[in-house]
Amino acid sequence: MHIRSAEPLQDRNTLALPATAEALAVVHREEDLREAFAWAAAGQLPVLPLGSGSNVVLSGRLNALVVCLATTGREIIRQGDESIVLGVAAGEEWHPLVEWCLDHGYFGLENLALIPGTVGAAPIQNIGAYGVELHSFVERVHALRIDTGEPLVLSAQECEFAYRDSVFKHRLRDTLVITRVELRLSRRPDVRADYPALARSLDHSGITAPTPRDVFDAVVGIRVKRLPDPASEPNAGSFFKNPRLPMAAVRELALRFPGLPVYPHGSDEAKLPAAWMIEHCGWKGYREGAVGIHPQHALVIVNYGGGDGNAVLALADKIAHSVFGRFGVALEIEPRIYGQ
Ligand code: FAD
Ligand code: NAP
Repeated sequence: MHIRSAEPLQDRNTLALPATAEALAVVHREEDLREAFAWAAAGQLPVLPLGSGSNVVLSGRLNALVVCLATTGREIIRQGDESIVLGVAAGEEWHPLVEWCLDHGYFGLENLALIPGTVGAAPIQNIGAYGVELHSFVERVHALRIDTGEPLVLSAQECEFAYRDSVFKHRLRDTLVITRVELRLSRRPDVRADYPALARSLDHSGITAPTPRDVFDAVVGIRVKRLPDPASEPNAGSFFKNPRLPMAAVRELALRFPGLPVYPHGSDEAKLPAAWMIEHCGWKGYREGAVGIHPQHALVIVNYGGGDGNAVLALADKIAHSVFGRFGVALEIEPRIYGQ
């Protein structure tokens, strides 16, 4: 394993933000992680795992050993007539795994097609899209503790998955590197096609009894049309989470703002689309220097070239303030922020 110092990170984050890692190690073998942890401890540097950099805002110098996991491997742990449990290395890319599962008749992940990033990062925010979340498939998550190098295995319950959230963003934050994820998938088609945009797309194509392949194709089609490609318009996907509020507060807001979409979330909460509120504050398409809000998607902040982390966060702050001023609702930033 080779550790490089003062390593640029602009090509390692999808917002293409300039930043420099104090040190960086690309780890191809799980065994090398312990060596990386020891190296960081000797230099009193924290360890920062980085996948594809599609859910981070980086700025300035990151005083850390950035560890990029490049481990690969997909193995069948056990299978029966109904389901199969796969063990997948953290460094694997998410979307090719979804495609591979579909090709092999391991069903369930189709709605999560085309989400950028690595398998190891997927449990961090319990990735979700088109009515499906990762937590439904997680059997166990394997990790190594950064302080001792000891292995740790968490059941799905211990991961405390919630909406774009998990124990890895709270109690276990910055304490471990996920090395492998075990997924339980169905051997029989298990189609979930009721998410409105997905149902509309299938209906539009005249598909009444969709197969997993139909769902995969429809999700890919919608995403390609609707979401800006970070390769040409650098972005980190949705910049804000959709806020959840107690039902009583939501009812009051819905009276004040007719047309505000409300999605019940559990029995006493509802989720409000942040994009709707941002758009109604007039931000869609707004541009400030090198950064702006995408003209077709009010949740996506784009770096049009030359923007840095501070510019992105300053714009996000203005947006959050204006939404709070108009709706009284606090927006929470989804990507993790690193650097000074
Ligand atoms: P990174 O951005 O590299 O890291 C994210 C966080 O995870 C960091 O805190 C990092 O330290 C930590 N981390 C990474 N790897 C590990 C590891 N092995 N062990 C421990 N911690 C680790 N998200 C959704 O949920 N749904 C979507 O539909 C979706 N669509 C997107 C569309 C676009 C165009 C973009 C750019 C992003 C989108 N995202 C979406 C966000 C992003 O793709 C996911 O959060 C993804 O899981 C991040 O993976 P990554 O490898 O890029 O993680
Ligand atoms: P959309 O379909 O225009 O919907 C806007 C928002 O409303 C979504 O965030 C979604 O919440 C919510 N929503 C819509 N219908 C819903 C329903 N029936 N029940 C509950 N919530 C509903 O969203 P979009 O921006 O084009 O994205 C499509 C999907 O991809 C969404 O699931 C979104 O989360 C996901 N996505 C995520 C990211 C990211 O970076 N996190 C980026 C792009 C797309 P949910 O977010 O809970 O689905």
